[in-house]
Amino acid sequence: VNIDVVEFFGGIIDRFEMSKGNEFHLERSFPNEPLFVALDQDKITQVIDNIISNAVKYSPEGGTITHSLRKQGNVIRITIRDEGVGISRDKVDKIFDRFYRADKARTRKLGGTGLGLAIAREMVQAHGGRIWAESALNKGTTVHFTLPIHQRLGQEVDDL
Ligand code: ATP
Ligand code: MG
Repeated sequence: VNIDVVEFFGGIIDRFEMSKGNEFHLERSFPNEPLFVALDQDKITQVIDNIISNAVKYSPEGGTITHSLRKQGNVIRITIRDEGVGISRDKVDKIFDRFYRADKARTRKLGGTGLGLAIAREMVQAHGGRIWAESALNKGTTVHFTLPIHQRLGQEVDDL
């Protein structure tokens, strides 16, 4: 189904805005016009929910979470940046592996299974997109993913 991702992503952020305490500031940098992309709403909602939940969970001091959406050639790129604990350079690519949790002692207290981003990666890849992260310890983390704009959704999305 073709979805206006500006409205769709905005709606997810609105939901976090309503449920959060006042310790986070949520910002958005969005295009001024609609941007239609073929995507499975339930699955991409799960992807974005996990990334924003991580940004909240791994930012003990609160801070700003910045959401951006832009078109880059044949893809849209969604970016979610936090000011939380960060991940060291040698570990940042592993966070998309099943059951991987970066700081065992600390993350155990926070709860979770280490599956959220592994599932997110499967869903993004089934849509023909890519997902990756950049991070600096004690400074924060940025997660990006892309989705192709012109695409017929294949069986692999339904099979997830
Ligand atoms: P869950 O299955 O509940 O999502 P989880 O949050 O531990 O558990 P993932 O979402 O897959 O699992 O994240 C994997 C690991 O990557 C986390 O345990 C954490 O160590 C690290 N991580 C993910 N996002 C962030 C972030 N925004 N800031 C710092 N560390 C992060
Ligand atoms: Mg998670």
